[in-house]
Amino acid sequence: MIPIHSVTSDDLPQQINSLENRPDKPEEACGVFGIYAPGEDVAKLTYFGLYALQHRGQESAGIATFEGTQVHLHKDMGLVSQVFNETILAQLPGNLAVGHNRYSTTGSSRKVNAQPAVVETRLGSLALAHNGNLVNTVQLREELIQSQVNLITTTDSEMIAYAIAQEVNAGLDWLEGAIRAFHRCEGAFSLVVATPDGVMGTRDPNGIRPLVIGILEGNPVRYVLASETCGLDIIGADYLRDVEPGELVWITEQGLASFHWSQQPQRKLCIFEMIYFARPDSLMHNESLYSYRMRLGRRIAQESPVDADMVFGVPDSGIPAAIGFSQVSGVPYAEGLIKNRYVGRTFIQPTQTMRESGIKMKLNPLKDVLFGKRVIIVDDSIVRGTTSRKLVKALRDAGAAEVHMRISSPPVTHPCFYGIDTDTQDQLIAATKSVAEIAKQLEVDSLAYLSWEGMLEETREDTNSFCSACFTGDYPVAIPEQVKRSKLILEKVVV
Ligand code: SF4
Repeated sequence: MIPIHSVTSDDLPQQINSLENRPDKPEEACGVFGIYAPGEDVAKLTYFGLYALQHRGQESAGIATFEGTQVHLHKDMGLVSQVFNETILAQLPGNLAVGHNRYSTTGSSRKVNAQPAVVETRLGSLALAHNGNLVNTVQLREELIQSQVNLITTTDSEMIAYAIAQEVNAGLDWLEGAIRAFHRCEGAFSLVVATPDGVMGTRDPNGIRPLVIGILEGNPVRYVLASETCGLDIIGADYLRDVEPGELVWITEQGLASFHWSQQPQRKLCIFEMIYFARPDSLMHNESLYSYRMRLGRRIAQESPVDADMVFGVPDSGIPAAIGFSQVSGVPYAEGLIKNRYVGRTFIQPTQTMRESGIKMKLNPLKDVLFGKRVIIVDDSIVRGTTSRKLVKALRDAGAAEVHMRISSPPVTHPCFYGIDTDTQDQLIAATKSVAEIAKQLEVDSLAYLSWEGMLEETREDTNSFCSACFTGDYPVAIPEQVKRSKLILEKVVV
């Protein structure tokens, strides 16, 4: 039975991507989750996994389960808690499942583009959930269309699903077909793929997006795949290891088998995952990202000290770095902004006055704490600068005597093509302005960014094992000219 919930191509695009209503931050592409656990309620476990990964995408959510050869699918626009309820989950029986949270980076925000993508093959259905962005979609699309494949959506994820189906239908088995299809894909892809026989997980040869393996203790042991370890913790699964760049893991009733399908794998994990996207309680390189982010704050305190009465972070993502800054500088840490946790990301302010003071909808300054103080505000990044400027004004209105800003990453000068929405280059404030010009625009008393070296050295890993292209323009996977032109529109970049 496919699907239990149908999607139509005439679903209207959502309004939530209009510039005015978008957060002034890079936006994450997607979260994925997969599980092979006969005898367990796999739909509910996937629901909780997606719930923990909600920060990676808030536009749509979906789960596909397999009950033998029969696939059950439900996907819709909205948060995981809005898309699913007990009744819907009860209609998703099976031994294995994959799930997806989506923020659209390729293809508009429409129900038809929600994942998992389900495609028929001669061996049965497959359901695919993708985190990342391909850079050769034009070429892949042409190849598929020439082969009479009838693409329904505008997503690169559906193209990967059809590429696997095409290889399988040419006579290959699931593994051979998937590997052959992965060789046709360029860019960033962390995938979970469900079939009647088992669940696959893979990362592109650069491992740009994360994907981890967990185990659920029991007899036999059951395996779980998730974008981040927080997706394992919530269901009581233990972190086993990362899926390696260019590795395919195949989870069946025989257990977990591993295949290295890329001849030239290299580690190029997105450094922004560590700085901002992934949850602070997720583990990368065997430590929480909270610890890494605190070190970034310590480092910028050493690199760019400033005398002040208090330091605080922009909630929530700036807080660990602000604590680290305080530890090294001796400037007392105190809360200066309180976050309203119940404002939806898609909220559209009804009046111009509310839009102008929109920052207070989410972050309210503590006037009595700030009044007369020289304050240091720490944030993880600046993209367009629009929110930062409003924030500085709100702090001054609350009586702050001086406002110094410290950013725990370098200036974002280039757009991302690997699944993170950082806008086109002309919208990035640091692509066209110097730090001094940005400071003037934000109306701060001083502004400093963390150095690129500091950001990488504080990982305590090989500094070559990260993608940091949005700070340098040095893209680990070549971007075709046609794709480049869509976002990279400036000839010269002033840093
Ligand atoms: S360009 Fe930036 S956001 Fe994109 S993958 Fe590389 S480091 Fe991450």
